[in-house]
Amino acid sequence: MEETKICSCCHEEKPIDEYYKFKDVRGKERISSRCKACRIESVRIWREKNKSRHKDYTRQYRAKNKEKMAMHEKKYYEKQKAKKQNTSNDKSDIIRIEKCLHQSLNATPDISKAIAFKKQFFQKKLIQLRTVV
Ligand SMILES: [Zn+2]
Repeated sequence: MEETKICSCCHEEKPIDEYYKFKDVRGKERISSRCKACRIESVRIWREKNKSRHKDYTRQYRAKNKEKMAMHEKKYYEKQKAKKQNTSNDKSDIIRIEKCLHQSLNATPDISKAIAFKKQFFQKKLIQLRTVV
């Protein structure tokens, strides 16, 4: 006589072969409460559900992130712009002075005195500018 079992999902009486067997945590062999057909179906539904949920989540995350990134970029750009406006004059001054200093350091020793004076002057100005920045 063939053993049968009633599926907890479709409530049909089906032979044991129609059920998956698995081992529980104690290693004891058990028979699934749902028949193979119901299990396969439930897994398929679960996967489908999860897939769409995952897709939705990814899409939402991307949309959210895109907004966030765009905002962040905008903020950064505005910040940089403001920074540039505030310090552009000072910065170009510093660059110009540093260039002069560099040039004077490479100059011939004949005019070293004049250069030393110039250097001192520029260095003073540079310090002033740097403390402002
Ligand atoms: Zn079933």
